[in-house]
Amino acid sequence: MKSPPQVRKPPASKLASRLRRQGFHALRGTLTIALLSGAAAAQRADESDERALRARRLAMVERHIASEGIEDTATLTAMRTVPRHEFVPTAFRDEAYENHPLPIGHGQTISQPYIVAYMTEIVRPRPGMRILEVGTGSGYQAAVLASTGAEVYTIEIFRALAESARERLARLGYTRATVRHGDGNHGWADEAPFDAIVVTAASSHIPPALTRQLKPNGRMVIPVGSVYGAQYLILVEKNAKGALRTRNLLPVAFVPMLSGLR
Ligand code: SAH
Repeated sequence: MKSPPQVRKPPASKLASRLRRQGFHALRGTLTIALLSGAAAAQRADESDERALRARRLAMVERHIASEGIEDTATLTAMRTVPRHEFVPTAFRDEAYENHPLPIGHGQTISQPYIVAYMTEIVRPRPGMRILEVGTGSGYQAAVLASTGAEVYTIEIFRALAESARERLARLGYTRATVRHGDGNHGWADEAPFDAIVVTAASSHIPPALTRQLKPNGRMVIPVGSVYGAQYLILVEKNAKGALRTRNLLPVAFVPMLSGLR
């Protein structure tokens, strides 16, 4: 069978085809420029957003933390560095640099910045120290401790909170903070003993596993009291011989320490 004669396109004039090519390139160029400048504008907006948030963070530290008696340099530097707005739900981002707790889901809260700074100063975190935190929540207190160079082990009883805090801390580069889903009443025997322990949920008593996991010369700060009644932040110090001494620091209002994994 004979193949049909090839239909040949009429040869386009050189000029016409050049114009088409140029038109295409010009269009593609315009699209590229539009996309690039859109991305650049978004990046510029992000940068100015970040600058504005940083300015608000520094102002918050001056007004509510430095001028309220927090003096430890490592603590102040950490509070000026850690981006609290990354640890609060998007709906509350505007309030990230106000000095109050905010909801983080599951009936839990990220603590008030002043209290985070106060507890941080009490345990005097330094590079290489091993610190246990009970009550990871958003991961903010863990990030503040880790940003001083301390190694932080933090336990959270809600699986969903533990997972989101782990993901958030990794994304923000806090490689010195390790998150575990578990009941902090038992501490973290595999990583014990600790130079310091920070408990961020209120307990009716000082859990004995936690004092056991504290090193000689170690310090623990823990809110103790009734669930909806009076609570005191307590400093527990273990001396070189292992004897314990407790001291009331200040009245506080923390969410209760729970038991039973969720
Ligand atoms: N430190 C947190 C705030 C914590 S709020 C932050 O910076 O965001 C107290 C947290 O303790 C809550 O997330 C709560 O779920 C958790 N929690 C309560 N009981 C616990 C327990 N027994 N073990 C571990 N976490 C507990």
